[in-house]
Amino acid sequence: MHDPTIPTINIGVVGHVDHGKTTLVSGVTGTWTDRHSEELKRGISIRLGYADATFYKCESCEGPEIYSADGTCPSCGGKAAPMRSVSFVDAPGHETLMATMLSGSAIMDGAMLVIAANEPCPQPQTKEHLMALELTGITRIIIVQNKIDVVTQQAALENYKQIKKFVKGTVAENAPIVPVSAQKGINFSALIAALNETIPEMDRDPEAPPLLLLARSFDINKPGVGWKDIRGGVIGGSLIRGILREGDDIEIRPGRQHTIENRTIWEPIYTKITSMHMGSKKISIATPGGLTGIATKLDPAITKSDTLVGQVAGHPDALPPVWEKMKFNVTLMERVVGASSEQLIEPLKHKEPLMLSVGTAVTVGIVTGTKKDSIDVILKRPVCAELGSRIAISRQVGGRWRLIGMGILTE
Ligand code: GDP
Ligand code: MG
Repeated sequence: MHDPTIPTINIGVVGHVDHGKTTLVSGVTGTWTDRHSEELKRGISIRLGYADATFYKCESCEGPEIYSADGTCPSCGGKAAPMRSVSFVDAPGHETLMATMLSGSAIMDGAMLVIAANEPCPQPQTKEHLMALELTGITRIIIVQNKIDVVTQQAALENYKQIKKFVKGTVAENAPIVPVSAQKGINFSALIAALNETIPEMDRDPEAPPLLLLARSFDINKPGVGWKDIRGGVIGGSLIRGILREGDDIEIRPGRQHTIENRTIWEPIYTKITSMHMGSKKISIATPGGLTGIATKLDPAITKSDTLVGQVAGHPDALPPVWEKMKFNVTLMERVVGASSEQLIEPLKHKEPLMLSVGTAVTVGIVTGTKKDSIDVILKRPVCAELGSRIAISRQVGGRWRLIGMGILTE
């Protein structure tokens, strides 16, 4: 039987800045995902945050108030049984951090779109994030109407109507809307019930070649540690299919950059898994869902400071190809959303730079050819991706990267 305390899916937490995403994750999981000094100082999320929650269900009560994330039944106050675990991916909502939100969307199995009830809906990144979900193919969506503790019932209803109108005709048209107060912990049972319903366990093929999308990489050694005590480089990411075991040989692509006679080449990295963690738990087998931390035999200089973010790991010689040039089918949207003025989107131009999000990788591609529905690009940094991968396309508009469409990798 599967251990119900090991996360099996990733749920993205998206929406406009300050609408309460990080507070919601903290309320449900007990983990404050803004950890870095810059995040704490500015009070906003800058990087993707991860936190795991176990959902519990009371076996002796009935009705809607039987779920919790803390192990007690909200109805009778008795003990509830662990049911399943999920991992939340807390995305930054600031408009300048769309690239980070997009790289997080690569590992989301479903998402909560957090909308504050005390502001008119939609706010710019409410729109831009919903569009990102739509373009990256995330269809399991729950709308969390937050901060209901600071509005009247009348205002909450008004806001509900605005939300309904906003999602009409989008991928979230039929998404449940759950009113909560992230800060006061109100209505979490209904939220968990909606998550169970909308984002159930998924069928995964354990035989598939493992594919780990890297979202972190670090050097865990303290400065000045003696050479004998040095621990190998650590990578963190989410397995989107297959399984990895302690002791497995792995390959990381595109790998490391070398310059040979003024030419830059990328060489895959080969290493071995020495141990694995999920949250604070040591595991010997990693399965999809959640953020898996993998200790390797690599020189920590190779993994330090997120150097390998956006790369892909799996078994040697079983990874997708590495692309330095790509051709993809393009669907552009009609208008730029997320900016104060919603300009029309003009066709892609020869030589223009685009920001491309492929899996957790973000790279810049220069357009070298445009046809009616497809374009060719040369990448500044190569990416490892399967044919048919979705590519989120952003362009510089008014000094910011704005999401303008999506592509499907064809060759
Ligand atoms: P994020 O940018 O979406 O991650 O938003 P944060 O979680 O950082 O929250 C932004 C601000 O809203 C903080 O001051 C929170 O304390 C506040 N906040 C979040 N949720 C609630 C809520 O349910 N009720 C109230 N009154 N304030 C909230
Ligand atoms: Mg936040």
